[in-house]
Amino acid sequence: MPRCYIGLGSNQAKPVEQLQRALIALADVQLIHLIAQSGFYRSAPMGPQNQPDYVNAVACLDTALDPLALLDQLQNIEQLQGRERKAERWGPRTLDLDLLLYGQENIDLPRLTVPHYGLEQRDFVLQPLAELAPELVLPNGRRITDLLQACASHGLQRIELPMSE
Ligand code: ATP
Ligand code: MG
Ligand code: MG
Repeated sequence: MPRCYIGLGSNQAKPVEQLQRALIALADVQLIHLIAQSGFYRSAPMGPQNQPDYVNAVACLDTALDPLALLDQLQNIEQLQGRERKAERWGPRTLDLDLLLYGQENIDLPRLTVPHYGLEQRDFVLQPLAELAPELVLPNGRRITDLLQACASHGLQRIELPMSE
């Protein structure tokens, strides 16, 4: 089964709880085996600045779902948690679930680009990914630790969660 990485993000309606619910929902999907989750990180918003900070994390899973079926499941969970799609790009949202990596596959479909196009530029993706999988190498041969070192830091902060771990 391909090993996949999912980027989670929220900045509305109790972001930490949104991510915790999403992780439970992911683990509940038939044909998804949740392997691990990163710590939670607080990050400044991309794009429009007049919105709350985000909470981000990355989940690692194995799945027998094909890539589009996995995307369907991610979008279903976003919908169940009240995601509204608005015209404004990178506006506030209750939950964003992005498919970062699907094994070592390169996918270029109208609905799905994998690896996720923003992966190499986003510290809030690279840091939790490196925490989960420090040995990870992308399909283009780049090492996750090298990408993290090269990535501009935007003041990402790990969140101490009293109830977890
Ligand atoms: P960004 O993609 O820059 O992080 P976003 O996550 O806010 O922005 P969304 O509104 O969640 O963007 O998704 C827009 C579209 O992106 C979705 O309808 C989906 O079909 C498409 N998409 C393409 N590649 C991916 C991917 N790897 N993971 C999730 N969605 C993707
Ligand atoms: Mg996103
Ligand atoms: Mg998204």
